[in-house]
Formats: sequence, C-alpha cells, structure tokens
Amino acid sequence: MTGVYVGMPAFPTAARAATRNAQLRANLTRATHTIRDRRARAVAELEDWEGLRQAGKAIKDETLAHLDDYLLQLEAKVTEAGGTVHWARDADEANRIVTELIRATGGSDDQPHEVVKVKSMATQEIGLNEHLAAEGISAYETDLAELIVQLGDDLPSHILVPAIHKNRTEIRDIFRERMGEWGRPAPEGLTDTPADLAEAARLHLREKFLRAKVAVSGANFMVAETGTLVVLESEGNGRMCLTLPETLISVVGIEKIVPTWRDLEVFLQLLPRSSTAERMNPYTTMWTGTHEGDGPKQFHLVLLDNGRTQTLADEVGRQALRCIRCSACLNVCPVYERAGGHAYGSAYPGPIGAILTPQLRGTASELDASLPYASSLCGACFEACPVAIDIPEVLLHLRERVGREAKEHGGHRLERAAMKAATYAMTHPAVYRAAENAAVRARKLIPKKVPFGAGKAWTETRDLPELPEQTFRQWWKETHR
Ligand code: SF4
Repeated sequence: MTGVYVGMPAFPTAARAATRNAQLRANLTRATHTIRDRRARAVAELEDWEGLRQAGKAIKDETLAHLDDYLLQLEAKVTEAGGTVHWARDADEANRIVTELIRATGGSDDQPHEVVKVKSMATQEIGLNEHLAAEGISAYETDLAELIVQLGDDLPSHILVPAIHKNRTEIRDIFRERMGEWGRPAPEGLTDTPADLAEAARLHLREKFLRAKVAVSGANFMVAETGTLVVLESEGNGRMCLTLPETLISVVGIEKIVPTWRDLEVFLQLLPRSSTAERMNPYTTMWTGTHEGDGPKQFHLVLLDNGRTQTLADEVGRQALRCIRCSACLNVCPVYERAGGHAYGSAYPGPIGAILTPQLRGTASELDASLPYASSLCGACFEACPVAIDIPEVLLHLRERVGREAKEHGGHRLERAAMKAATYAMTHPAVYRAAENAAVRARKLIPKKVPFGAGKAWTETRDLPELPEQTFRQWWKETHR
C-alpha cells in the first residue's frame, strides 16, 4: 500500500485523541446513525435480503477461486473493445503507469497536466494524488466530499462519506478559504446551507470538467464476460469524468471482477441499499472499451494487485476480498463511531480496514499490528455486511497471526511474564488455590484504577472489574454438598 499513512501512530494512540474531540464525535454519531437507520429501512423492503446476501457471497467466493481465469477473460474483452490493460504489482508500479499515461497525452509548460478524478478507493490506497503532485501533475477530486477533503488538506475518514468528520459550517469555511487557491473561488457571502454549498462546488468543478483532457477513476465492478466497467455514484460528477475527457484511466483492484451480467444484477441490488440506502444509485455508468464519437478516445485499465494475491492465499483472511466497499460495517461499529476514520491509518477505515489493511500491508508496523485489536468483537459488522464477511472471525485470525509473529521475535515482555506466571499457577493447583483465596480476601483493597505501568493505560478509560466475595470452589462447596 501507499506511504501516505506511513509513520502514523498505532490505533490506540490515534483513537485516544479522537475520542476527546467532542465535535468530531458529535458529527460522527449524527451521520452514522442517520445512514444506518435509512439502510435498515431500505433493506427491510426486500423480502429475501438474506438470500440475496448469500448469493453475493457465493458469487464472490466462486470468482475468487478462479480469479486468474476471469482476469484473463477480462483482459481479452477490454482489449477487443479497444482498451489497453496494464498490470500493476504494487502501488509504485501503478503510480508509475498512470503518470506515464498522463504524460503521453501531451501537455506543456503553458498547458500543465491536469486530471479530474472520480472518487476511488484504489487510488487513495496507492496515494496517487500525492504521487502525481510530486510529478507536477494536478489531480482534482470531483466528488463533493472528496473535494472538501482535498481543499482542507485533510484525509478521508469514511469510505462513502469521506468528509463525515466535518459539519457544514466547517465545510463553508474550507470553501471560503481554499477554493480560490485551486480554481474558481467560493461565491461572495457563501452560507452553510446544503444547497449553497453544493452550488459553490458545482461552479468550481464545472470549469475543471470542461478543461481536463484526462480523467482517472476506479470502478465498483468489472464484468469479465464483456470487459465492461461499472461506476455507481450519486452526484453526476462521475458521469462527467467518465464521458467528457479524451483519455480515461481506471485503476481497479483485481478483486472487483464479476463473471457475468447476471452476477452483476445481484450486486446492483446489494450495494445501493447497503451504502446510500437507495433502491438504486442516481447514476450508474457502464462502459466497454472505446467507441468512435462517443466518450473517451482512449481507455486504459490498470489492474492493481498491491497485496491482494497474498490476501487470497490466506484461507480465512481471503473473505475480505469479497468487500464491495458499501461502508455498512463502519456505520454500525461502536469503535468507529467513537474513534473516527483517521485512527485506522489507511484508506480503509472501520471494521473492513481493521481486517483488510493488515493483510494488504502486512503486520510489521506498530500501526498495522494494532488494527486487528481495534474492535470489541460485537459482531454488528458481520450482521450488516451485504456479502457476509465474518469480520470478527478474520479479526481473531489476524490477532493470532500478530501474536505468533510477536512470539517469533521474543514476544511482548509483560505478556510473556503474565503467561509464565499463569502457566505456573495452572500447573500447580495448590498455588492456584492460594492465589484465588488471597485475591478474594484482599478484594476490598484492590483499587479501581491501576496507578502505574500497562495497567494504568488499561484502566484510564475503564474500571477494574470487582472480584466476587467467594471463589468458585468455595461457592461449589457451599451449594453442592
Ligand atoms: S466489509 Fe462488508 S459491510 Fe464493510 S464495506 Fe465491505 S462489503 Fe460493506
């Protein structure tokens, strides 16, 4: 994955700051509860949501089992339809390919390279905007929420609503202060009403749509049998990017493939209801290669691996590749609601980020190793997921991996000491009994907070549980004579 988030602290440290930000928590609670309630109503409209969900799961599993075949079929169909397919092993390779393709479209000192972008998780994952900026290419986000994030020098914090952590007054201030630096300034006296903010963004973006020669997108789905790409969106900015510029470059993760149009039908029902709580998205754009006199003259598809093949090799972890990026798991997650998206340190926040990022990037860094623990394991994410990804199962699996790797490197000092003490007590019944009796006798003396060491951090936000008045053995003796 990208280096954009490299150096960010481990989840607990980043989350601690976020949980103290009352404004952020208020914004998140309001937004996630609104979306989750609407989603529940949209899902309840269908008689057999569970059947549809299981169908989505089965299609994705079958596709992943034969991914190599479907990818080759897709490549052949895209090429046949006039497009060009590029294969990118990792973020660096994908960024280099896109940069070269943009440079090949011309441009000069008088007319520097500019691209318009459709909201895309894959390009965030590889840090494309930052890479292009370093190469002197301006990339303009055209999705409203992505525009807010870009103008505010911020990072997205939600898959579907990247600026969920901002309220409309904060957005108005960003527009007033920053729009002029990027192009058309905000209108005089801009208010924070949604209609005014949307109109300011529309005017600002219009000139960029009309000027840009290159667009960069991702895709929600790729249909192998015809080589068709599909983008679902709500604002129409995607449609403008996908049809107006002369060159279209789409960067898409290799797992976004579905074999047939029949399979696509299932996901066109699952995704809108799970994400925006709609029966269908206002804009569904599909394109197959290029067509004379209609849409972009050149189409390039960059197929991105970037850790997906290694994820596919893991029998338990591979189910994360079923994800259709609906964000339903984020909206029901109590940890996300309190910590916000930035604490996850990657383009993928929330429960899906906690299982996908450590698989794509590995668990070598402190941040990535902390992500599988960013969960209470309540299971709400699993219930909400439209493709039935058992997120708690993968979290436990990854925790086991992190623990194993730590053990190979000697393990955590305190954990090692605790395990050693526990092993001794468990294998010496008399010692175990004596420790139990001593703990019960001293229960009144045990404080609710530990004033030092690792225990201090643990009890900062919770009390130590009270010990019972008698041990289990004492209770058993009393009640089972
Ligand atoms: S894991 Fe499931 S619920 Fe979460 S974003 Fe992916 S598809 Fe949606």
